[in-house]
Amino acid sequence: MLGQMMKMPLLISSLIDHADNYHGETEIVSVETSGGISRSNWQTVAKRSRKLASALGKRGIKQGDCCGTIAWNNHRHLEIYFGVSGGGMICHTINPRLAPEQMAYVINHADDQVLFLEKTFLPFAVKLKEHLKGVKAIVLMSGRDEEAAAQLPGLLFHDELVDEGDDDYEWPALDENTASSLCFTSGTTGNPKGVLYSHRSTVLHSFCAALPDSINFSARDCILPVVPMFHVNAWGSPYAAAMVGAKLVMPGPGLDGPSLLSLIDTEKVTVALGVPTIWQGLLAAIKASDSKIESLTRSVVGGAACPESMMEAFREYGVDTLHAWGMTEMSPLGTINNLLQKHSDLPEAEKNKVRLSQGRPPFGCELRIVDEAGVVMPNDGTSQGDLQCRGHWILEDYFKTDIQALTEGWFSTGDVATIDEDGFMDIRDRTKDIIKSGGEWISTVELENIAVAHTGLASAAVIAAKHAKWDERPLLVAVKAEGADPSVEELLAFYEGKIPKWQVPDDVVFVESLPLGATGKVMKSKLREAHGDHLL
Ligand code: ADP
Repeated sequence: MLGQMMKMPLLISSLIDHADNYHGETEIVSVETSGGISRSNWQTVAKRSRKLASALGKRGIKQGDCCGTIAWNNHRHLEIYFGVSGGGMICHTINPRLAPEQMAYVINHADDQVLFLEKTFLPFAVKLKEHLKGVKAIVLMSGRDEEAAAQLPGLLFHDELVDEGDDDYEWPALDENTASSLCFTSGTTGNPKGVLYSHRSTVLHSFCAALPDSINFSARDCILPVVPMFHVNAWGSPYAAAMVGAKLVMPGPGLDGPSLLSLIDTEKVTVALGVPTIWQGLLAAIKASDSKIESLTRSVVGGAACPESMMEAFREYGVDTLHAWGMTEMSPLGTINNLLQKHSDLPEAEKNKVRLSQGRPPFGCELRIVDEAGVVMPNDGTSQGDLQCRGHWILEDYFKTDIQALTEGWFSTGDVATIDEDGFMDIRDRTKDIIKSGGEWISTVELENIAVAHTGLASAAVIAAKHAKWDERPLLVAVKAEGADPSVEELLAFYEGKIPKWQVPDDVVFVESLPLGATGKVMKSKLREAHGDHLL
């Protein structure tokens, strides 16, 4: 015999087993939807996950069936993550900020057999139950609640369901390519598209997230996933936390600055993950308090470009910003920004310049840029083209559609980027948002980052406005900061010397607020509808 290694499938159940066996006492802190904080640990979450899988099986839910969740980040959602996937079913996380008809669409499209939901969303279930064809059971994520039971006959309760499960349940030995979870893109145009993750892709993505040049999760960390569990599985952090046995703090529904600050300080959070809009709220809360967020060592910022001003604000408190890029189709990690050995001796200002890009791909994900004809462009830091990727946790096909997702084995991300000699990738824009002015491209991301650094503005977006001579020109849509009243001239002058003159926006439109989509990102399509003709 030649001799070889064991073949053990990469399974989500093995992640929770590991956390149970070697980090059983490590705490899981969870803000309850009804208020208050509950404390549990990996051992209890593991036990309850197994019992949940067992109970679902007893109620006729089979391997391969989808179970939907409309839920916040809390310990019950965690039990569903591990129980449903570990038991061979598919955990379908539903974004509660989708329009009700889109929610019904994704539930029916996934053919969800069970729907787990928070009390917050009970009215939705009461109203739409008749339209949810395949749903056999609706489970309220709480203990028994008579008031809720009266509203929806047949309603089950999470804690009672867990109690129905067997104590000696054992995880099934699945093939590692079995589907484990399902997440839909936000569907700004048309119906959302489903992305189906596998056990293998999820476990490999967890290894990747934990690597030192990624987020460097460890057993000494206390992780606060502010990014919702319905948004690309909270960027995979619950799985990675189980893999390394970190303490988890689940923030529940309250994602406002003061609530997050209080959690960080009382639970001694070391690493937090979220989109820039969330961190704006946190930074404002810190400023208004005496807190120095002493425990926090790093904040992972992704989902949208992280402005330099935000990195600086975090640095004042000794917090490193890890700028990351990815998307639903990529589980989501595609790049993360950590400096290389060769940067160590650079002056701080030079280091900061490097930190602003979206970073480099970790092992397991490859990137390239191509021009309009599909020809691969050089990694020279200036050529910009369509960003494509491939790797162990990148989508091959969308869920139940015949949309062709890949070109010659590569997935087109819909982002326009540059890549430099070291592999640092810089997102210039989304293909559909970039401004094409007189044949030249202008990055809206860059113009926005400059605008939000102006103290007179609370938030800002730049869109392509139609222009008689140049086809498109940049238009700044801005929300004034409380108590501030910056003028158009002042804001446009703020761009001077920071970018070439011809890229400076033509005008500024002030608005009360920016329209946000289901994942908290600015909906530029709405802004273009409203202000696209402003310069004509
Ligand atoms: P959706 O595509 O539905 O908005 P995703 O959350 O998957 O949902 O968003 C992925 C997109 O978000 C990326 O293609 C990219 O345009 C943008 N994005 C994510 N992270 C960053 C980042 N760090 N900088 C700039 N853009 C980002």
